[in-house]
Amino acid sequence: MTPTGNDHTTETARGGEIHARSDVGETRETNEDAVLATSLTDDSDLLAVADGMGGHQSGEIASATALSSFESALRAGLATDELDGDTDTPADSDCNRETLLRYAAAEANAELEAAAASGSSLDNMGTTLVAALLEGQTATLVNIGDSRAYHVSSDDVDQLTVDHSLVQELVESGTLTPAEARDHPQRNVITQSLGPGSEINPDTDTVDVGGTLLLCSDGLTEELSDGAIKEIVGAADDPATITERLVERANENGGSDNISVVVAVR
Ligand code: MN
Repeated sequence: MTPTGNDHTTETARGGEIHARSDVGETRETNEDAVLATSLTDDSDLLAVADGMGGHQSGEIASATALSSFESALRAGLATDELDGDTDTPADSDCNRETLLRYAAAEANAELEAAAASGSSLDNMGTTLVAALLEGQTATLVNIGDSRAYHVSSDDVDQLTVDHSLVQELVESGTLTPAEARDHPQRNVITQSLGPGSEINPDTDTVDVGGTLLLCSDGLTEELSDGAIKEIVGAADDPATITERLVERANENGGSDNISVVVAVR
């Protein structure tokens, strides 16, 4: 678990193949993002980004609580599966990884509800969550909100998640072009988040990510085009270097929000 409230945090897993970095940026006073990079078993790793909101430190509490609860639920689900093979558990077979991730997201949402019940200032806290359970080159993804997962190869940048945002809905209905969505004044309005009173309907997917898997908060994509992301990822092999350069470039371009990135190279 990454400590929160710090301007800058890093975390590494799988002997350096996975690196996470979160930075306060150039204009915000606190970092409400949280990141996670950890090994779950001999052959599975967990990567996650949460972008908290709520003010008065509640955003930091929301993102940190969501990641720690999500990780615990996932570890418990995987352990149950491995120990007794109970067919009723969320992870009763490989094809149910997506079910397991939805279950862990629901557990995190319930934890935020419980936390809010114990602290009056936490009623309006919320957080996005994007996470990948990485097994070899196979990633099972879960997404709530507008943090993102990308697959970056030498010739392409593929966004693997679909934002739960107002502008995304307007793009899908044909009201906005993707370019207009990028500059829209309401581009930060999200339509799903974890938090007290939230009903969530997470998206999940299973994808091959040979190459580079990138998870990030909107503080990165606000400042960097797909082309800039591809250029930076392609210029280094080492995830720590890649995350450092991504954050550095986002700050050079304004750093208007907290910036979080998790990179796995396979
Ligand atoms: Mn953000």
